[in-house]
Amino acid sequence: MNTTEPTPASTTDYDVIVIGGSYAGLSAALQLARARRHILVVDAGHRRNRFATSSHGFLTRDGQPAADIAAEGRANVAAYPNVAWHDGTATAARHDGGSDGHAFVVELDDARTVRGARLVLATGVRDDLPHIDGLAERWGKSVFHCPYCHGYELNEGRIGVLASGPLSVHQAQMLPHWGHVTFFTNGVCPLDDAQRADLQARGVQVDDTPVLRLVNVATVVLEDGRQEIMTGLFTYGRVHMSSPIAQLLGCAFDEGPLGPFIRTDESRQTTVPAVFAAGDAMRAASSVALSVADGAMAGVGAHRSLLFGVTPFAAPMMAVSASASSSHSGAR
Ligand code: FAD
Ligand code: MG
Repeated sequence: MNTTEPTPASTTDYDVIVIGGSYAGLSAALQLARARRHILVVDAGHRRNRFATSSHGFLTRDGQPAADIAAEGRANVAAYPNVAWHDGTATAARHDGGSDGHAFVVELDDARTVRGARLVLATGVRDDLPHIDGLAERWGKSVFHCPYCHGYELNEGRIGVLASGPLSVHQAQMLPHWGHVTFFTNGVCPLDDAQRADLQARGVQVDDTPVLRLVNVATVVLEDGRQEIMTGLFTYGRVHMSSPIAQLLGCAFDEGPLGPFIRTDESRQTTVPAVFAAGDAMRAASSVALSVADGAMAGVGAHRSLLFGVTPFAAPMMAVSASASSSHSGAR
C-alpha cells in the first residue's frame, strides 16, 4: 500500500465513481478500495458541518474537529493505490450503456469526462437557514439544528428555539432534556391550545414576540425591546440536495420533514439500477455516524452488484448472496 498523496483522476474507466468525498463517500470508498476495485472519488470539499468547530456523537471521535475526522478519513482512503481523486465538482452524469448494460459517464468541472460501472452519490445537503439577522454567522457556533450533536455542551443552560415553521414545535418539545427552553414562535409557528398545554407541561416557556436579530453569543433581541440572553439556540432550516446529479440520473426522492432525500433500499441502491447513495443525501435526519454506516453499506452494495450483477430496487440482500452462492465460492 502506498501512503503518498491520492492519484489524480485520469480518463480511464472506473469500477465505481464516488461523488462526494466526505464521511459517507469516504466510507463507501474505503470498502471498495479494500475490495481492490479501481475507484474515483470526486469531492468539492464543502462538508455540511464546515461551520462547526467540533463534531460530537461519533464513537472514538467525540468532540474532535469535524475537519480532522474528514481529513483522517481521506488519508485512510488515499493510502490505497487503486483510488484516484478529483478535487472538484462532478457537474453532470448520465447512463451510458456498459458491458452489463450499466455504465455512467460523469462530467467533471475540468472539462474531462470519466466512466464508471457503478456510482455512489454521497453529495450531502445544504441548509437554507431562516432569515433572521445575525443567525447565519452563528450557525454551527451558537445556533444549531441537532441537539444530539451540540445540546450537551450547553450545560443545561438557557436554550432558545427559533421557530421556522410548524415543525419547530417538535424541536421545542425535545430540547427540555438539554436545558431551560424558551420557544420563540416568531409569527411562523401558530400554536393551538393542546400544543401550548403540551409545551407548558414540558417546562417550555413560549414567547410569541417577533424576533428582530441575534447579538453577542446567542442573545435574542425582540421587537418589544427585550434582550433574552441564551446559552445557545436551535432552529430548523430547509434542506436541499447539494448536487443535481441524482435528479439528472432520474433517482426517485422521498419528501422528508425538512426537504427531499434520495430513496434507497437496504443495499443503499437508488431506484436507478447501479446507482447507490449514502449519507445526508439519502436520509431525512443524519449524522456523521449514520453517514459512515450508510457509506459502508453503499460501498458493499456497489461491490456486490459488480460481483453478482445488478438487482432490482429493494431486492433482499440475502437473495443476492444466495443466488450467487451456486456460482461463486467465498461470498460473504
Ligand atoms: P457532507 O459531509 O455534507 O459531504 C458531502 C460532500 O460532497 C461535500 O464535500 C461536498 O462538497 C461534496 N459534493 C456535493 N456535490 C458534489 C458534486 N457534484 N461533485 C463533487 N463533490 C460534491 N453530525 C454529527 O454527527 N455530529 C455533529 O456534531 C454534527 N454537527 C453539525 C453541525 C452543523 C452546523 C451541521 C450543519 C451539521 C452537523 N452534523 C453533525 C451533521 C453532519 O454534518 C452530516 O450528517 C454529515 O456531514 C453528512 O455527511 P455526508 O458525507 O453525507 O455529507
Ligand atoms: Mg459538527
